[in-house]
Amino acid sequence: MRVVSCLVEDHNLLLVGLAAVVCVIGSIITMNLFKKMRSSRGLNRITWQFMAAAAGGASIWCTHFIAMLAWRPEVISTYEPVLTALSLIVAIGGCALSMFVGAFRFQTAPVLGGAIFGVAVSTMHYTGMLGLRTHAVLHFDMPYVVASMLLAAVLGMGAYTLAAYASPRYRMALSSAVMVLAIVSLHFTGMAALVVSPIGGVPDYSGVNDGFLAFGVAGVALLLLGSALASYVLHEQAQARERRRLKALLEGSVDGMVVEGRNGIMMFNKAFAELVGAADGTLHLSSIGSWIEDAQSMSDQTVVQSQLKTEAGEVIPVEVAVRADHGDSGESLRLFSVRDLRRRLEQERRIAFLARNDSLTSLPNRASFLEKLERMAHLHKHAPGFALLAIDLDRFKEVNDLYGHSVGDQLLVHIAGEMKAVIREGEFVARQGGDEFVAIVPLNNLSGQREEARAAAQRLREAIITPMQGEHTEMGCGASIGVALWPQDASETSILINNADLAMYRAKAALAEEICFYEKTMDEAVRQRRRVTQGLRDALENQEFELYYQPQVAVDTREITGYEALLRWRQKDGSFISPAEFIPVAEDTGLILPIGEWVLRRACEEAKHWDKPLRLAVNLSPVQLGHTDLPRLVHQVLIDTGFPPARLELEITETAMITDMARSTFILRQLKALGVSIAMDDFGTGYSSLSTLRAFPFDKIKLDRAFMGELEDNTQSRAIIRAVLSLGESLSIPVLAEGVETVDQLNFLREQGCDEVQGYLLGRPSRRALPLSQESVEIAKAG
Ligand code: C2E
Ligand code: CA
Ligand code: CA
Repeated sequence: MRVVSCLVEDHNLLLVGLAAVVCVIGSIITMNLFKKMRSSRGLNRITWQFMAAAAGGASIWCTHFIAMLAWRPEVISTYEPVLTALSLIVAIGGCALSMFVGAFRFQTAPVLGGAIFGVAVSTMHYTGMLGLRTHAVLHFDMPYVVASMLLAAVLGMGAYTLAAYASPRYRMALSSAVMVLAIVSLHFTGMAALVVSPIGGVPDYSGVNDGFLAFGVAGVALLLLGSALASYVLHEQAQARERRRLKALLEGSVDGMVVEGRNGIMMFNKAFAELVGAADGTLHLSSIGSWIEDAQSMSDQTVVQSQLKTEAGEVIPVEVAVRADHGDSGESLRLFSVRDLRRRLEQERRIAFLARNDSLTSLPNRASFLEKLERMAHLHKHAPGFALLAIDLDRFKEVNDLYGHSVGDQLLVHIAGEMKAVIREGEFVARQGGDEFVAIVPLNNLSGQREEARAAAQRLREAIITPMQGEHTEMGCGASIGVALWPQDASETSILINNADLAMYRAKAALAEEICFYEKTMDEAVRQRRRVTQGLRDALENQEFELYYQPQVAVDTREITGYEALLRWRQKDGSFISPAEFIPVAEDTGLILPIGEWVLRRACEEAKHWDKPLRLAVNLSPVQLGHTDLPRLVHQVLIDTGFPPARLELEITETAMITDMARSTFILRQLKALGVSIAMDDFGTGYSSLSTLRAFPFDKIKLDRAFMGELEDNTQSRAIIRAVLSLGESLSIPVLAEGVETVDQLNFLREQGCDEVQGYLLGRPSRRALPLSQESVEIAKAG
């Protein structure tokens, strides 16, 4: 009651109202600035602290001072300037201290700060009162003083605690209101504590009108508060702008972006919300750690792979880049950029798969095979070790040629599938490329390695030759398998591969064996081949080749019609290497092309100088036929040597034509157009297909010499010779029999109506195109 009556009776209520306005506005602004300061760091914090303390101090002091001016004791009073100024400093300093303490992180800091605030308000009040100069005795009623100070302290604690811990919605209103209460209750309780006893005398009153002073002080206070408020608003606006810009920036990113503050996720973009699959409300202020594994422990500037758990519980692999930052009020923020790795990982997996596997069949590729082989070799240092199988498909090229590449591809896929189905645990199959495969088969049986390896090879071979059901037909191909054993057959993996290949070539060449094991002698054969290849190169350069000529004789006139040129390779010691031995090597290495050209040119040059203009027969290799330039080459040689085309006969075998009949006949026609004739060599040994004879109008059929040897005691051979001769007759193609060695053979051929003969009986191949010897003439006639 005393406080109320003091307020109502002793005060000018208009000025009290003014004080209240200053107090309320000041408190609201101060509390907002305090909040700002609490959430700031560094220089920002100092600035905000300064502003908050100035605003708080000014509010308290001005409220007090205006309220003092509103006070109307019976005595005139003035204010002593030093103490009055001191009270202002106490107000500001006390506020600063209370805020400094109140903003600490520990839990009771706001309580402590609030208490300091209360003490500051009290100290300011009573310091100000000490500056009051009146003609009266001032007496303070102690219980009221204590009560006022306790009130200020308790309400101060209340204001600060509310500012820190009240729910964010009401925080500002409540804390400001309690701060107002703290200031006001202290002031009026403090005033009620004051007992004034006038001591008479003329009051020395020359001061300014109290009302003016009050409004002046209020004006200055509001100005100060206003500028603090202005900077606060400006700052808020800048922050909002900043936030909007940041938001726009975040939304511009395809990756999920999250800004995390002290209280959890402050901001995030659509991409992140979509990735997580959660509503905005759920995400806001949630902990980033609840979405991204280990997010809490990620430090600045790191890029780590982690996992994201979606709202639905799905786990997504992500790459998270973290950057620590400071908000503009200095609070620490963390920026997370979250990239969905699913597509990239999928792609990486695919690329890794493609790098290690054949894209057509999905079998491991050569690179995987080599790696696996190294590992296996390292693992199996001792017998029984493992078997390396080099697998080459037979007749695959035919399928490709006949049905096209896409069917060929299908067949490869089919074969790969069949193989995959039969391999056992620990076994490994890879595609080397083309129609070549390899397999690694671990062996267990020390005494029966070969049997074990053979069984595995057989199992794979059977799988490979399982026919594929085509649209209209079944198709399939064979397989030749070479086997080399580790560690018996090689000391290095590259040698092991080489040896398995050697065995495979042997299997390919041998008609009866589809599976061959590597043997040491194969090396020798290969070395021999290499020697021959090198020798052939040198021979071509050093002119070690010679041509021999063997006469061809007409059966009825018994005269020489022409000579076949046969290649001879003379060694340094004068011996010859048979063309049957070196021609295949020359064909394999392509050396047949220069050698063949040399033969043709040399034969034409030499035959030009023969006494009689007889026919010259020259052998052509299938490899030469496969070479498109053949017609041009022949033409060129004919021009260069001036040899008449009509005298030249080219001998080709049926095998040379069979691989690509259309192309072969095309080339043969071009050759024939030059005026040269074409003979089919070695007829009866290869395919001997009527369609070849029909495809191209040959000028001669040369019956292979194999039939001559068997003629005496083999009725079948005779039947075949007869058949070929009548075939030639019905097609009007003359037939020449090769390899005639005996008079009986000659007689038989004559009886059967053979046109020409060639053989040792009539003349061996010799350096010169010799005429028939006297002896041969006799023999020919005798028949
Ligand atoms: P070919 O074309 O069938 O040649 C005939 C072969 O039979 C020659 O062997 C010849 O000496 C041999 N011969 C001739 N009369 C008789 C006989 O009464 N009895 C026996 N047992 N053999 C006889 P040569 O010269 O060793 O040639 C072997 C093969 O080498 C030729 O078979 C031919 O395919 C190839 N060849 C030879 N010279 C050349 C050449 O210049 N170019 C090409 N591409 N291949 C050639
Ligand atoms: Ca020939
Ligand atoms: Ca022949």
